Amino acid sequence: MTGRPGRTGTTSRGGGQAGAGDLLELVRSGRAVTRGALQEATGLSRATVGQRLDRLFRAGWLREGAGGPVGSPLGGRPAVTLEFDDSHAVVLVADLDTRHARAAVLTLTGELLAEDSGTLVVEHGPEAVLGELGRRFADLLTKAGRPAAAVCGIGLAVPGPVDSETGRVVQPPIMPGWDGYDIRGRLSRAFTEHTGTPAVPVLVDNDANLMAYGEQRTGHPDCSALVLVKVSTGIGAGVVVDGSIYRGVDGGAGDIGHVRVGADALCRCGSYGCLAAVASGGAVAGRLAESGVPAASGSDVRDLLAAGHPQAAALAREAGRRVGDVLATVVTLLNPGVLVIAGDLAGTPFLTGVRELLYQRALPRSTASLDVVTSRLGERAALIGAGALVVEHLYAPARVEERLAAMGV
Ligand SMILES: [Zn+2]
Repeated sequence: MTGRPGRTGTTSRGGGQAGAGDLLELVRSGRAVTRGALQEATGLSRATVGQRLDRLFRAGWLREGAGGPVGSPLGGRPAVTLEFDDSHAVVLVADLDTRHARAAVLTLTGELLAEDSGTLVVEHGPEAVLGELGRRFADLLTKAGRPAAAVCGIGLAVPGPVDSETGRVVQPPIMPGWDGYDIRGRLSRAFTEHTGTPAVPVLVDNDANLMAYGEQRTGHPDCSALVLVKVSTGIGAGVVVDGSIYRGVDGGAGDIGHVRVGADALCRCGSYGCLAAVASGGAVAGRLAESGVPAASGSDVRDLLAAGHPQAAALAREAGRRVGDVLATVVTLLNPGVLVIAGDLAGTPFLTGVRELLYQRALPRSTASLDVVTSRLGERAALIGAGALVVEHLYAPARVEERLAAMGV
């Protein structure tokens, strides 16, 4: 079973006894999947473990494993395994980029049930964009054959810095009209309007954060420090430390696109000389357009790179060198085990450029165990990360207790 690293090993909170939520957590993480192992991990009696598991069975959140009985580590008769029942609910997720959006219905374990991708222009403002997203969610549920009542939560990735307390974006350079807007409230209303079901929790986070989280959870579960850099129309980075997204005090951690690199190009944030102004997909598109190659966005550059356009490749490599120079500092500060390069520019020319400068400028000690890789999940990374974040939020031990109580089990 894949691990979920970075969680605390203890199950008792503040010296109190482990509750149903703690038991579910142990089963979901694979740390204890039999009644005996749960007793051992929590110190609870057989009867108490049984009572708490009964609540989880009644809620439909836990089931006996399909794999059949396994031998107990302590020997003796085989014990029945327990597993998280991911069929009792689904999660809706979406990843907003500047000019298009991808949305999906996921199972609680991140399996894709239905997906759609299409034009959605962030500049049209949050009211219209989130309303449209509500409509797409309703269509996706129909496509997936799941009722809206099965939705337990919604996760949204946005291309800007997010205050995770409020779910609002904070001075986003490429999301005009979204600053401070109540994204959660509007998306929740849109979902209700289009499905006629009661509101569900909505979580909003930065796209690079969610991509990093998705990649760490699915591809690098044992990596205690992972950095992902997304280079598309803008540039952003996500940091996952000990299994959790590191957001900083104001949600601004990882916003490396606006580090000044000394050039005189005007950035969309209003400053001059930002990394994004010279090395993003938008910047490369601008350089191509100046020389007569039709390109307006990061995705246009991606198409040119895929077609082997030599000038696009040369500019992508140069952009990679610029980003690699900044990443040398990032890597020296954080000493990650994995550095994922993602987004429209993430191909061989860009990666070559990143490696050239990164290894030249960073201390050998910081890069000795560093893997520089491309994304495994590709365009779905933020969706998978958003789904995982919603599930971790809703099935955290304290919230499990609340939700079980509300269900009357
Ligand atoms: Zn800037």
